[in-house]
Amino acid sequence: MNDVTHRIPDLLLIDDAPAAAKAAPLVDAFQRRISYLRLSVTDRCDLRCTYCMPERMTFLPKREVLTLEELFELANGLIDRGVTKIRITGGEPLVRRDIMDLFTALGRRLGHDLKELTLTTNATQLASYADGLAKAGVERVNISLDTLDRARFAELTRRDALPQVLSGIAAARDAGLKIKLNAVALRGVNEEELSDLIAWAHSQGHEVTLIEVMPLGDVEEERLDQYLPLDTVRSRLEECWTLTDNEHSSGGPARYVDIEQTGGRLGFITPHSNNFCASCNRLRVTATGQLYPCLGGSEQVDLRAALRSDDPQEQLAQALNQAMVIKPERHHFRMDQRGAAPAVARHMSMTGG
Ligand code: SAM
Ligand code: SF4
Repeated sequence: MNDVTHRIPDLLLIDDAPAAAKAAPLVDAFQRRISYLRLSVTDRCDLRCTYCMPERMTFLPKREVLTLEELFELANGLIDRGVTKIRITGGEPLVRRDIMDLFTALGRRLGHDLKELTLTTNATQLASYADGLAKAGVERVNISLDTLDRARFAELTRRDALPQVLSGIAAARDAGLKIKLNAVALRGVNEEELSDLIAWAHSQGHEVTLIEVMPLGDVEEERLDQYLPLDTVRSRLEECWTLTDNEHSSGGPARYVDIEQTGGRLGFITPHSNNFCASCNRLRVTATGQLYPCLGGSEQVDLRAALRSDDPQEQLAQALNQAMVIKPERHHFRMDQRGAAPAVARHMSMTGG
């Protein structure tokens, strides 16, 4: 296996790197301190979830995508500006060739400025990677799983891959990784099954977070038909379970409850019915190096141009300063108009959620 760290300048690997590496922390115009990077390493995927992308998705030409070295350099630049948590995402991050090199290289910064390295995956390939991820220093993974019914899974993701996914989840558990399952609540699709999914996950010791579908990118289905508000789901769950609000916070938009009967924790991400932008601490970067300071906005800064310029360190610093100026106060998702164009034209697979 190639080791990207062999091709990266030494200064990017050591903790007491030069002065430029200890630049000012990232604080936006609303005094929010940025400490969390979601880094997409590919827009490609081996599934085609109906709420995420169309069957005939057009993927980016490979030359437009950052190399592993560039991704590493970019991540290091952000760590040097105070990012302490990195989530690798996609598309499906584990379909990117040699992706373990990036995990290994970034894993070497854990315990220094970087406190957490993690990923979001659909788990189709996780059985092959779980041990390597744990060795690289990954302690927890978010796995997307919307149904435990094989036929429904095949319909929803347009691929018959549930057995692979379940093997991936088992391998992650065996490798000692903590698992959080993410499920998008979809009207008329998995809404009747959510309590079974939660009960199963809790019986396996996994947390679950439910997510409301968001209007990102054109898909072949009507978004409004997919949208199931989570306050409806919560009320239904309360018909058979006792839910107690839990003050736990992962620093993100989820709000949590404990379920007495399952003994597990359940998170709700409700971008439509609630808005948690005031405490947003994150930036998202696509596989082409476009930095989006808000998931729900189209503001962007081109980090690839900075990385490929004659003075990458200085240009990257300036681009990040610019991102702090343009990060909007809040998103403006709306989910109330049938046939409306997506609030944001890009698909979730560009920014990785
Ligand atoms: N492929 C990986 C996976 O599915 O976990 C990582 C990327 S995927 C884009 C990240 C998360 O975004 C998944 O949990 C997925 O369910 C969610 N997602 C995708 N499109 C969405 C949408 N339109 N609304 C809400 N969540 C979405
Ligand atoms: Fe692929 Fe994840 Fe999008 Fe599903 S949600 S199509 S697994 S990127």
